[in-house]
Amino acid sequence: MNTLRRQYNYIDGGWADARTDSTYTVVNPATAEPVTVIPQTPPDEVDRAVRAAAAAWRSWRFTNPFYRAEILHEIGNRIAAAVDTIATEITVEMGKPLDEARGEVRKVAKAFHYYAEETTRTFGTVVPNEENGFISLVQREPVGVVAAITPWNYPVELIGWKLAAALGAGCTIVLKPSEYSPSSAVELFRCLDEVGLPAGVANLVLGAASTGQALVSHPLINKIAFTGSAETGAAITKSSQGVVPLSMELGGSCPLIVTAHADLDAAVAGTVRRSFRNAGQICIAINRAYVHEDLYEEFLERLGERTAALVVNDGLKQPDADMGPVANREILERCTRHVADALARGARLVTGGGPREDLAPGYFFAPTVLADTTQEMLVMHEETFGPVLGVAPYRDLADAIAAANSTPAGLAAYVYSNDLAETFRLARELDFGNVGVNNVDAGIMNAPYGGRKGSGYGYEHGREGLEGYLHLKHLRIRHGSTAE
Ligand code: ADP
Repeated sequence: MNTLRRQYNYIDGGWADARTDSTYTVVNPATAEPVTVIPQTPPDEVDRAVRAAAAAWRSWRFTNPFYRAEILHEIGNRIAAAVDTIATEITVEMGKPLDEARGEVRKVAKAFHYYAEETTRTFGTVVPNEENGFISLVQREPVGVVAAITPWNYPVELIGWKLAAALGAGCTIVLKPSEYSPSSAVELFRCLDEVGLPAGVANLVLGAASTGQALVSHPLINKIAFTGSAETGAAITKSSQGVVPLSMELGGSCPLIVTAHADLDAAVAGTVRRSFRNAGQICIAINRAYVHEDLYEEFLERLGERTAALVVNDGLKQPDADMGPVANREILERCTRHVADALARGARLVTGGGPREDLAPGYFFAPTVLADTTQEMLVMHEETFGPVLGVAPYRDLADAIAAANSTPAGLAAYVYSNDLAETFRLARELDFGNVGVNNVDAGIMNAPYGGRKGSGYGYEHGREGLEGYLHLKHLRIRHGSTAE
């Protein structure tokens, strides 16, 4: 993987280099070495991709859902057969250990199979009319050409959810993956190409923000599906043309509440998993924990031990490492800044605390636990998006709930409690789109996943994920039959 490869766009059923000298170089975060070059696809090439998608939609929208289901199943099978190839690209470009990357790719295959099934179960309703001789049918139809923009932390999973649901719904799509992780997207599109998806139905354009801007502001786009930062979400909202439905998954700063009635071992295990998996670079990572004072010191001690024992390494050399590098230098610097800010304001360092110099020049940061944190510290309200966790004690559950709800984030919250009344109170009062109780795996394929408040709107996963690519048509027919 030491040679610098150039990746191509996939437009209208063929691979093509964008006609531009402007490029972006992808760096392997485990070694800080350049590995891939991509074009900064200019507006005229983006236009070609969108026009191809618009042309393909004219027939794709009327294809039989059972036919689309068959294609989605085939794509799922191809992806499953290409697990190692796709996973290696993920690890090389964004640093997730290989075993974890393999798991991500398998989940994408599953998403295609799930939406293959869901596609054949998309139907409307019959609505009663006040007058005899009429019938009202409410039908679901694909919205049209989708622009999808995705980040690097789950480089193929976040593409897969959008791609499988959009194609299943009968939409066509132009996708721009993150400039940090383009090659796994390229490998994913190879799977689409191999199953013979009709030309123009799915298109891939590579590049960074300017390519994304050209895509979301194209007048032929009928829906924008975005996962990424709040700032980019705001920029996209401003630049979309006309009245375009948007779905936005913008991440957030996710809280955990461990009550006095929690199973401490389970709470510690869950916290380690959801704070440090993917080096904390997950929209639904636990960033801040509020722990009842009776359990607080014991929780910190066990958490510190378990965290210090995590194996950090280049996940290509050690596929089963617990944590790889963070994805880029900016995150490494943000982690350092958040830790320094917390310590300067009186937090206590339990474990970790800085970059792993022994693994430099790779962007490795030691998994870090900070105790005695307060809400004004950056780590407690600004998403670190790295392996840094703040922990604060509480006495009154109402205070913990208020602190959990106090940031603009509304994507996911977690609770450990074995008290029924307490659990129901927390489930009701936490203002988040996903709440995990006594577990930290809030997202499952067949339930809706989405945020609220500053974390965005719209849903992926589940039937709701498909419905995001459909709109309704009310068909009122006067058939004239008035027989009693
Ligand atoms: P992250 O910090 O997760 O990389 P970003 O919001 O910066 O989040 O990027 C997410 C995706 O949005 C990437 O594919 C990126 O290239 C794209 N992007 C960034 N800026 C813009 C923009 N102004 N318009 C459209 N897409 C953009």
